[in-house]
Amino acid sequence: MSDTFYATTPIYYVNAEPHIGHTYTTVILDTLARYHRLAGDDTFFLTGTDEHGDKIAEIAAQRGASPQETADEYSAAFRSTWEALGFSFDRFIRTTDPGHQRVVQEILQKVYDAGEIYFQEYEGLYCVGCERFLTDRDIEGGLCRDHERAPEKRRESNYFLRITSHFSWLAGYIEEHPDFIRPERYRNEALAMLREESGLGDLCISRPKERLEWGIELPFDPDYVCYVWFDALINYLTGVGYPDGPDFERYWGAVEHFVAKDILKPHAIFWPIMLKTMGLPVYQHLNVHGYWSVDGRKISKSLGNMVSPIAMKERYGFDAFRYFLLREMVFGLDATFSETALIRRTNADLANNLGNLVSRTLNMTALFAGGEVPKAGEPGDLEREIQAAASGAAARVDASIRSYEFHRALEAIFEFLDCVNRYLETRAPWKAAKDPANADQVATTLYTSCEALRVIALLLAAFLPETAAEILARLGIPDALQTARLPDDAGRWGVLEPGTATSKGAALFPRVEVPEKAD
Ligand SMILES: [Zn+2]
Repeated sequence: MSDTFYATTPIYYVNAEPHIGHTYTTVILDTLARYHRLAGDDTFFLTGTDEHGDKIAEIAAQRGASPQETADEYSAAFRSTWEALGFSFDRFIRTTDPGHQRVVQEILQKVYDAGEIYFQEYEGLYCVGCERFLTDRDIEGGLCRDHERAPEKRRESNYFLRITSHFSWLAGYIEEHPDFIRPERYRNEALAMLREESGLGDLCISRPKERLEWGIELPFDPDYVCYVWFDALINYLTGVGYPDGPDFERYWGAVEHFVAKDILKPHAIFWPIMLKTMGLPVYQHLNVHGYWSVDGRKISKSLGNMVSPIAMKERYGFDAFRYFLLREMVFGLDATFSETALIRRTNADLANNLGNLVSRTLNMTALFAGGEVPKAGEPGDLEREIQAAASGAAARVDASIRSYEFHRALEAIFEFLDCVNRYLETRAPWKAAKDPANADQVATTLYTSCEALRVIALLLAAFLPETAAEILARLGIPDALQTARLPDDAGRWGVLEPGTATSKGAALFPRVEVPEKAD
């Protein structure tokens, strides 16, 4: 049965080059999208860039360029990076797309007509970094908590979306749907935000043009542009053809949002209420992940420790970087990156374990079976154990990936790899082959190892797409992913046809020297 899977990254703000944080969220989505496609699901993977607001206008002014030129340049950097990394997104949306701007205006008018937007004079402390007025909760020692800069006192007339009157509805919805926001700690945080009602007033959704022109004009007042978050969140609707595209209802009914914890509030509080005021059903789940620190420190432009995914790809191959990100972070918790840790993991898991199994299996197939997958004889107990381990691994990977436990899915694959390595040690075909009487057993051992490699490649395909494709090509079945269905085809034994021509190839992951000054 085919399910529908629609998943979104946040759209990335175009004031920085892509770094480890953006890359992680996109790697998760790419992995999930690839897995769901292999499972036969109707899949849509949306990513893109968020391009309006004060910060872009500020950067553009510093650079002596127009906001549009600045947005074009940074957005292109994201898009070309994502393409160079091989991400399999179905659409790359930009909030400056004319179609998106039209949708935002339609929605603003609709919500305004429904009486959910009002006009009011307001005085408060405004943070240019946050692009909004701050509440007491946002300020610490006179500075914005997130930006560590002093907010400015501003007095303005603006349009507000009624959100506080929907707080009790939203709190009730979250209580009744315990996994609406997950993991649980972020659900609790969202509920706490709603409870401290005084800290969160109604949402200011406009900016006077005299102060900021770079935005989508309010359809009911040409002196104002729309607040950047209101415009940005709507990308999740525009991306799949809201309001009347043929795919909209199907995808919207299955939408999963993925964000880092710094943007919990707009996604957990503003967005469900915005959807309610538009008369649309809320999303299925908001899935929140933690932060990466680098060498034990918070990533920041000033520290220059943002970690360029392109540099990682050039130095180690992108699959090695993907593997590290997916293996080291427990979804929802924080994790730490260092290049030394990446090198150690790559050497231990990918070069020594996976790479070694691939090379010795295919080298022995070349040596003892003329480079063709041999025909297996009757399986013994050891072979039956490997078959059972394969179907066990397929089931564990499927369950883990569907609960976003990427590290557990990889653990399951590598535990299976360990089983196959132990099996080879026990059968020791390099010794057994010395006696022609063992020919049958050697053929069975090599068939079992080749078939195990096929299973491993299918299970790795969503996580390490280049590596999986390479293993399948060496096994002589380069098109296997085009017809494979997961998890069934990974759990099924005996798919590889005897007589298939295999090839040896170079080391999948060359060992990398650990830098001398490393800890
Ligand atoms: Zn701020």
